[in-house]
Amino acid sequence: MTEIQRKQDRAPVPKDWTYAPAPESRDVVKLQDRYGLFIGGEWVEPGESYETISPANEETLATVGQATAEDVDRAVQAARAAFSNGWSSLPGSERAKYLFRIARILQERSRELAVLESLNGGKPIKESRDVDVPLAAAHFFYYAGWADKLEYAFPNRKPGPVGVAGQIIPWNFPLLMLAWKLAPALACGNTVVLKPAETTPLTALLFCDVLRQAELPPGVVNIVTGDGRTGAALVEHPGVDKIAFTGSTDVGKAIQRRLAGTGKKLTLELGGKAANIVFDDCALDQAVEGIVNGIYFNQGHVCCAGSRLFVQESIAEPLVEKLKKRLETLRVGDPLDKNPDVGAINSKLQLDRIKELVAAGEEEGAEIYQPPCRLPEKGYWFAPTVFTNVAQSYRIAQEEIFGPVLSVLTFRTPEEAVEKANNTPYGLSAGVWTEKGSRILWMAKQLRAGVVWANTFNRFDPTSPFGGYKESGFGREGGLHGLEPYLRFEE
Ligand code: NAP
Ligand code: MG
Repeated sequence: MTEIQRKQDRAPVPKDWTYAPAPESRDVVKLQDRYGLFIGGEWVEPGESYETISPANEETLATVGQATAEDVDRAVQAARAAFSNGWSSLPGSERAKYLFRIARILQERSRELAVLESLNGGKPIKESRDVDVPLAAAHFFYYAGWADKLEYAFPNRKPGPVGVAGQIIPWNFPLLMLAWKLAPALACGNTVVLKPAETTPLTALLFCDVLRQAELPPGVVNIVTGDGRTGAALVEHPGVDKIAFTGSTDVGKAIQRRLAGTGKKLTLELGGKAANIVFDDCALDQAVEGIVNGIYFNQGHVCCAGSRLFVQESIAEPLVEKLKKRLETLRVGDPLDKNPDVGAINSKLQLDRIKELVAAGEEEGAEIYQPPCRLPEKGYWFAPTVFTNVAQSYRIAQEEIFGPVLSVLTFRTPEEAVEKANNTPYGLSAGVWTEKGSRILWMAKQLRAGVVWANTFNRFDPTSPFGGYKESGFGREGGLHGLEPYLRFEE
């Protein structure tokens, strides 16, 4: 008997291959029953309040403030005072110290933040732990580095801060979107009033404690929770110099209309319907992983999700077969368990929207596939879904589903791929899978999308600008480009 056979005989054979649960401890997070609004470095009692829940089991987590127009006004005044009383005239090297401090505290408290992000938002803990929180810290580190180098970044243009920035963020990456917004604004010497999304306020509220620890001067960052009405009050406020918005195209358009003629600066990061384009010469298994990451990462609640898959006709059959097999191995379940790949849908509202569009796909004649998986009874869940036989005119190929639903279409030539990929009002991102470098470059030039990934998907880095074309918005976040919206130039 060889050594290896002997070892095999001794190894216990598992009865089945399901994973043992590996729950992350909830105890690392100390939740309060009630949260106020964070204004001028203090907790202020809100005019109204609402309850925030865990989408995985509908359990109530805390009561949070619903900021009224008066509350927003107080926050804007606090931000204005902090701007005038020193923050804007602080040397860049001093502002950098605060940003570095915030970044380090985010790292130190990463476990706590990751657990809370998964609890309140429904995303798998391995994602908040390995993606959201580390990237949030990376943004603060990165922009801390720019704070004292703005004159070199924009030579001969005399950059200065804009003033008070109103920032409105969505629920799909709550802490990361907060970091994308705050880090460049503060690095440039602005003060901020930020509104988190209604369904995911808790990491932003915990972040206020990070600010306290970092001893950021009061009023430099103010956080007002609430629903769309709070966002609208912030947009309307005459004391705000700049609005930065990430969210749906509909709300983005309404904000743009509202701000027309006011002289306020505006950046919009809106929806997407990205094309992930797979050529027949690609590394097929690698592409399958990229497709899965592209659409099932964060339950598909990703503005740049690869929700339209374009496969070259000659490999469509084997690719779809591999993809379906791979879907069978995706684990859907408890966001606080370290095993699942796909967590809970963020809200009932979003779940209903996904269901409506999936029903429309079936009605219009697309063929649906969902792997066998048992979904938890409580909470909001949706199985990973693939549609084949999709025509470009179907709603599932046109509208943003913002859920774990992929539409597969085919093409024959690169020109046809480009034409179909660009056939959308959006233009946030795209993916190209091919072995040929020249084809990657040619495609990247033809595709009307702010980011084009080659042989990978959903890669983010603070040094790399991100933003849209067409109805996906304008302005860039990340990189050197991400500083510009927060600066005024004396030319
Ligand atoms: P949303 O309804 O547009 O909300 C975005 C934010 O705006 C939330 O904080 C929301 O508050 C607030 N809001 C709602 N109505 C408002 C109004 N009239 N005035 C000012 N603020 C208002 O979008 P969502 O459903 O939360 O997020 C999903 C959408 O965001 C998707 O379409 C997705 O593509 C897009 N998104 C884009 C990016 C990007 O970088 N381009 C990133 C993430 C998400 P409530 O929470 O109360 O609704
Ligand atoms: Mg909304």
